[in-house]
Amino acid sequence: MSDAKLHEEVEKRRTFAIISHPDAGKTTITEKVLLHGHQIQKAGTVKGKKSGQHAKSDWMEMEQERGISVTTSVMQFPYNEALVNLLDTPGHADFSEDTYRTLTAVDSCLMVIDGAKGVEDRTIKLMEVTRLRDTPILTFMNKLDRDIRDPLELLDEVEDVLKIMCAPITWPIGSGKNFKGVYHLLRDEVILYKTGQGHRIQEEDIIKGLDNPELDERLGVWAEELREQIELVEGASNPFDLEMFLAGELTPVFFGTALGNFGVDHMLDGLVDWAPKPQSRETDEGSFVEADNKNFSGFIFKIQANMDPKHRDRVAFLRIVSGKYEKGMKMRQVRTGKDVRISDALTFLAGDRSHVEEAFPGDIIGLHNHGTIQIGDTFTAGEEFKFSGIPNFAPELFRRIRLKDPLKQKQLLKGLVQLSEEGAVQVFRPLISNDLIVGAVGVLQFDVVVHRLKTEYKVEAIYENINVATARWVMSKDEKKLDEFRRKAESNLALDGGDNLTYIAPTMVNLSLAEERYPDITFTHTREH
Ligand code: GDP
Repeated sequence: MSDAKLHEEVEKRRTFAIISHPDAGKTTITEKVLLHGHQIQKAGTVKGKKSGQHAKSDWMEMEQERGISVTTSVMQFPYNEALVNLLDTPGHADFSEDTYRTLTAVDSCLMVIDGAKGVEDRTIKLMEVTRLRDTPILTFMNKLDRDIRDPLELLDEVEDVLKIMCAPITWPIGSGKNFKGVYHLLRDEVILYKTGQGHRIQEEDIIKGLDNPELDERLGVWAEELREQIELVEGASNPFDLEMFLAGELTPVFFGTALGNFGVDHMLDGLVDWAPKPQSRETDEGSFVEADNKNFSGFIFKIQANMDPKHRDRVAFLRIVSGKYEKGMKMRQVRTGKDVRISDALTFLAGDRSHVEEAFPGDIIGLHNHGTIQIGDTFTAGEEFKFSGIPNFAPELFRRIRLKDPLKQKQLLKGLVQLSEEGAVQVFRPLISNDLIVGAVGVLQFDVVVHRLKTEYKVEAIYENINVATARWVMSKDEKKLDEFRRKAESNLALDGGDNLTYIAPTMVNLSLAEERYPDITFTHTREH
């Protein structure tokens, strides 16, 4: 393959994910994005979740839908000149760790905000994660077919709460029953909204120029109001600046309705024109691997149980960082030092799982995993570096896990360690007892673990409450100090699934006291794989 061909493939790719608070419209906008990518004839076929269900039934349903969720985890489609990879993030709040790691595999994000509600707490959390790598963010203000809050106020809120500047690209004309359309500030065009077009790609009804008298004819009093507003908006907000967008300092903002399929294409145009092509990734040696580098490399950011329970294999999702994947190629799994030949990687074009012949930087391929691949693993063309930056988050909820049949302890540990490798849950083994502590970010994960232990590892386990408030990974540059700490704080220390030392705090006060008492020890909230 020539360098030019690789370069060309890299240039046209855009890999992004959608972040939002539940119910803001992520599923709906995904449908419309796929509609514009010509992946579905009629929008409305992406499996959504019904709201208001209890955690348990949600999980049972998820179990049934696992196959679907595997195929919709990655969606690749062409749009204009570009080839877009959209990575799905789990909707349920309890799978947030999975979401966080997915965000390490994208080059940009779309933030969807419910215009009636504004910035909500989960959006804040997710944005914090994107700030770790200054990922460029596009914003879609959704549900304009309903009465929304004052648009200028919404932008102020994004700027204040999320600490990112806003550059409106489109501006709404009315909302709710009076939603007329948007004015595109860069195109200097009014695009009129038509109801009942939610399921198809619509021809745009455009009025060119803000001063066009046709605007008054068609919009009546709204025309003059729009002109006044735009004057105000142009004075009060930031103009779009590509460099600031790429630096993650400014977000272009689009207004529309996902349900009405209006404005989604404006956002997609922005994504294709401005969002970064596949970016370099940092290695543990501190150097960067560029996408144009001819040698294949990539990292695993997610492992998901396969749809076929009989085979019990799992799919490991690999983001290609550089070079080209070719069917049958050999790659090195750096952690184990093994070279493996991969001839059956999955790709996700058109939402179908089919075997790929080739894939390029920015693409995601699915590797069959029989328990040997872990989250954070680096694959290369034989080189020895590892990619850094795939986080584990300190769990916030803890339970002691106990077997109904004590003879199966080994099986239980094996199951828990494997599930923790997947990132589904974290397991801690205290240094001074035989307890097994399970830590999770969300409560639903506990149900998932017990269910999977039973079906996949044939062990029946139950939970008991345990007095743990939080956990921190601990390390120190000073080996002696670490040894001393290990002795003195032994009763609070445990090993996680990867044998990393962790501090288990019964209360937050206990944690801060420990931090004060051992200044040479670093207590971290996230740990990189
Ligand atoms: P998610 O939880 O973020 O994936 O949100 P969904 O896409 O499932 O949407 C949540 C609810 O909001 C659903 O009932 C959607 O039909 C509705 N919804 C999504 N977009 C719009 C919109 O633009 N206008 C209105 N009125 N409802 C919307």
